[in-house]
Parts: sequence; structure tokens; C-alpha cells
Amino acid sequence: MKIKNIIQSVLYQIKTLDTDWSIFDKGSHWKSETEIKIKYKTEQSCEDALLYLKLRHKKRFKCYKCMYCDAFHINYKQKKSH
Ligand SMILES: [Zn+2]
Repeated sequence: MKIKNIIQSVLYQIKTLDTDWSIFDKGSHWKSETEIKIKYKTEQSCEDALLYLKLRHKKRFKCYKCMYCDAFHINYKQKKSH
């Protein structure tokens, strides 16, 4: 992990006021043991893809900056536990 990516990841998390901190989990980068999640190079391209997913699936997805690589990924948003 690069320090740069960790900082950007945390900053993005704070910016989006997200309380789901699963970005620390390895699953935030890996889809399975061998497969990596789809990478979006920029915040904008990730949010564009997110919009499409939301319209199409009507589920709660979110963009987040990955800690493990330079990219952004999209994840299904987990329900808050409180
Ligand atoms: Zn990643």
C-alpha cells in the first residue's frame, strides 16, 4: 500500500460523509482471491458509472477511493448497523 492512496482514500471517505469504513478491508480491492474489482481512474469516471448502476439496479452503490491501488472502485453499500 502507498501512503498516498491511504490518505486519498480516507479523505474521500470523509468528503462523502460515509460511515461505512469497509475501505480498510482487503475486499475493497479484491473481488475474489484472484480477481480485482473494476478500476476507475478518476473520481468523475467512477461517479458516472455509479449513476448508471443506480438507475439500472435501483440499489445502493457507492464509489470509494481504493487504499490498495491508485483507482476508485464501486461497492454495494451496506446498511448502517446503528
Ligand atoms: Zn483497488
